[in-house]
Amino acid sequence: MTTGAAAAHPRASDPDHAGADDPVAMAAALIGRLDRDAAVLLACHVNPDGDALGSMLGFGLGLRRLGFSRVRASFPEPFDVPEPFRFLPGLDLLVPPADAETPALGLSFDAASPTRLGELAAPLQRAPSWLVLDHHASNPGFGTLSLVDPTAAATALVAARLLDRLGVDFDEAIATCLYVGLTTDTGSFRFDSTTPEVHALAARLVGAGAPPAEIALRLFDSRPYGALRLLADVLGRSELSPAAAGGRGLVSSYALPEDLARHDQPAHVLESFVDILRTASDADVACLVKPASDGRWSVSLRSRGATDVGSVAVALGGGGHRLAAGFTADGDVPGVFAAVRDRLDPPTGPTPAAGDGGPTSGPVQG
Ligand code: 5GP
Ligand code: MN
Repeated sequence: MTTGAAAAHPRASDPDHAGADDPVAMAAALIGRLDRDAAVLLACHVNPDGDALGSMLGFGLGLRRLGFSRVRASFPEPFDVPEPFRFLPGLDLLVPPADAETPALGLSFDAASPTRLGELAAPLQRAPSWLVLDHHASNPGFGTLSLVDPTAAATALVAARLLDRLGVDFDEAIATCLYVGLTTDTGSFRFDSTTPEVHALAARLVGAGAPPAEIALRLFDSRPYGALRLLADVLGRSELSPAAAGGRGLVSSYALPEDLARHDQPAHVLESFVDILRTASDADVACLVKPASDGRWSVSLRSRGATDVGSVAVALGGGGHRLAAGFTADGDVPGVFAAVRDRLDPPTGPTPAAGDGGPTSGPVQG
């Protein structure tokens, strides 16, 4: 058992740190005032990725280090930790969403909207305090205190800032969780969100014991052979539309539930496929349509740099970032592709009446 809380608590509870314009300081002060036996519920978005799980579990372990004895973490159904994340420390914090009770303090991680928290939105809404840790530009602001930094490469970075403010030392377990979040959302430090702060944090995390090679092997360089065969099918049926996205090109493909069944694969193996489609240098935009658990479609969009797919996803009811975004859709696959194409290249139609031209002038030059 660690007694890190004793050293950390005085800093966290120091009201002088709680500048009204500094949400991280306000969050730390709020946590510092809580009883250590208060119920704390952490939640992350449905179908959690490495940043959702890594930031949530890393933060949960940090709260434990501070002495909090009733920390629970969860994510919406399907409540199944994807195989690549089953090595993560802190999985013992997890409880099924049906067992999540209204806490004294709720925190959500990497969820750009309450909808992404599914059935966990209700207990968080009932909590007296709900801290929102996120980095999606599309986050409209919800909860009782918003720690949303759209310039942060990962929610793990936001979580690390708050842990630092709370005075939590990163041990190997916390560092491993946060590193998983950081490396997932920066594409292994390749995306333009990879700032000096990202590398500085990565250095600290590796210094604290996070194993970069093991994490990379598990997250990015391992898949069942059946998933490779599935990838071959998905790539084999992909289509290139050079004229789409204002002539910058679109590469698109899909996987059906029967494709997963044929190769005996779980849906999470599809998550990395859109980034492989995105390597097609003839297309600025990549789109992959995947089966969602409820018979709907989960659509992933990527841009190589010139197209704001985040606004496309938002317009279609989803969210995300400028170069990586997604939304959930109904209907059939051709209909989903048509909706994406229409958003990338809005039909010009008749010339709008004078004074009605504002919204039609988007970033895409037709
Ligand atoms: P991915 O394509 O890897 O699933 O998601 C890329 C980005 O888009 C992530 O930041 C993710 O949170 C966001 N995203 C994906 N699907 C949805 C969705 O259905 N709704 C919202 N709001 N965001 C999504
Ligand atoms: Mn994220």
